[in-house]
Amino acid sequence: MKPKINILITDLDNTLFDWFQIWHQSFTAMLGEIGRISGIPTEVLKTEIKTVHETHGTSEYAFLIEELPSLRVKHPGEDLKVLYEPAILAFRAARKAELRLYPSVHETLETIQKCGALIIGYTESLEFYSTYRIRKLDLDGLLDIVYFPPDHDLPDTHERIRLYPSDVYKLTRTKTCRTPKGETKPNPTLLSRIVQDAGGSKDMAAYVGDNLMKDIAMAQRAGIKDVWAEYGVAHHRKEYELLRRVTHWKPESVQTERNLSEDDVKPTYVLDDFSGLLTLFEFTQFKPVEAADATVSRTL
Ligand SMILES: [Mg+2]
Repeated sequence: MKPKINILITDLDNTLFDWFQIWHQSFTAMLGEIGRISGIPTEVLKTEIKTVHETHGTSEYAFLIEELPSLRVKHPGEDLKVLYEPAILAFRAARKAELRLYPSVHETLETIQKCGALIIGYTESLEFYSTYRIRKLDLDGLLDIVYFPPDHDLPDTHERIRLYPSDVYKLTRTKTCRTPKGETKPNPTLLSRIVQDAGGSKDMAAYVGDNLMKDIAMAQRAGIKDVWAEYGVAHHRKEYELLRRVTHWKPESVQTERNLSEDDVKPTYVLDDFSGLLTLFEFTQFKPVEAADATVSRTL
């Protein structure tokens, strides 16, 4: 008999869509244009970019160009956003071309939603970028709740509004919750709290994610059914070296991810396609635990 699930918690990046591919294509396009316009060697730019990413705790920083020291030195007093607009446009064009869900994700989430189960997204990508992708990928409302870390400090609000229409970065149907600043996966306490805050029970929850260390180990420690989205694993791709080169992640976590395999963390369930969730579990109507208890006590 299939386990009954009434809460699905899902990672977003590389579980619902190929975040790495989107990042790699858009970042490469932007970097190429910055190099072409400035004439500054790519390796110099990469080193500076890594520092900016580390400062802001993200590897997708919208105001990157304005903060690169060698560009500021090369063009004193000039508006870098204007000078390097082709780089920004190249980034956006590549992102637009790559931003799509993995096959079967939308239909599978719709089926799970129709069963009445609660669907919760949980990502480490910051609010600004996660919200954009949820909107563009038509997940607003398909996810009941989404958890993400609060944004880095933006240069200033007016700047943000001028560059990006504010409604693109707001969700209208999915409820948004912020994880505590500095709290990252794998934190089983945080995952347990997400289930608890929803009023659910761990026995009826499943967690799906692509990362053995961050997602699978976390779910196992939290005592929640773990499902490995193996199709989303990206760190063996040769293009991944570029992300390692400019990432904000700490060297230890880059190394751990590189070395970790299925021998270290054994996933309980493995997916080669997101729709496999429908084969693994019977999704049922969500009822908060308190309400279920109340029904029982009324009956008694
Ligand atoms: Mg992921």
